[in-house]
Amino acid sequence: MSWSGCDAGSMTTGGSIESKLERLKGMLKSCVLCPRRCRVDRTKGERGFCGLPAGALVSRALAHHGEEPPISGTKGAGTIFLSSCNLRCRFCQNYQISRQATGEAVNAERMARIMLDLQEQGCHNIEPVTPTPHLPALIEGYALARLDGLAVPLVYNCGGYEDPEVLRLLEGLVDIYLPDFKYGNARDAHDCCGVNDYPVFALESAMEMVRQVGDNLDMLENVARRGIIIRHLVLPGRLENSLDVLRSIKERISTAVPISLMSQYTPIPAVRDRPDLGRRLNREEYERIVDAALEMGFDTLFIQELNERNLVPDFNRDTPFVWER
Ligand code: SF4
Repeated sequence: MSWSGCDAGSMTTGGSIESKLERLKGMLKSCVLCPRRCRVDRTKGERGFCGLPAGALVSRALAHHGEEPPISGTKGAGTIFLSSCNLRCRFCQNYQISRQATGEAVNAERMARIMLDLQEQGCHNIEPVTPTPHLPALIEGYALARLDGLAVPLVYNCGGYEDPEVLRLLEGLVDIYLPDFKYGNARDAHDCCGVNDYPVFALESAMEMVRQVGDNLDMLENVARRGIIIRHLVLPGRLENSLDVLRSIKERISTAVPISLMSQYTPIPAVRDRPDLGRRLNREEYERIVDAALEMGFDTLFIQELNERNLVPDFNRDTPFVWER
């Protein structure tokens, strides 16, 4: 598909959408879209770690009311859950959709339609979840949607295992970055998802995100328009991991960065019998990490209430999230 003749909106910082899209598509031929660098030719049907084809697979698109308040606002984030994942943590709360490459195969026109439908529902933004392995198809659809009137911000909700070189191609396209920073040290990263280099890539990619959009949130009527929130899911019994994450952000980025400290960890069936990951976080553990963040000087924190409810979404239901049932 050619983008020649697009209006001025097709120009972004660092080049046109068309040129960026061509580079992203080129990466599929020896896939280096994420730090796994599987180097498989996805255009010829080869599959790498994520198991995904060249196009995008969508699991669910909905107005999401459970994100941080500046992302969900009053009308919901326009969330597009994409299938599979390039990380696959043992405890993944979205395991029903992140462990397999299933879902609706969507072309650019369909992706654009999904985005425009979310905007028409009143959603404050378009928020693809785990977008990285799907980037070429996603950005192609996004460019089409913009030509057809998409005007809400694009939120990049990713797992943090990103390649900064790939992120550079998103400059001027992504308005709000919403990355996880799951592991602050190689030991916990290896134990939970099998990659030692997660902390390095998570930090360098967060630095690139901040370079693009700044280290805070620009708001309009209590809804984010631009900026970043770094998410961290506090894991039971791994407080040093959380402290390492906070120290990395403080020392290498900024304490101005909004941090979302998530307490919602719920053991999924695959880890329920493990002594370390088989229980919920307790109040004392969570408060210790919140206090540490405050003591380090982080001045914008998003905090979650601790409760006993099972917060793992069920994507087999029409309403996957417990707070919407
Ligand atoms: S996107 Fe998938 S195939 Fe490509 S490098 Fe990452 S895990 Fe491998």
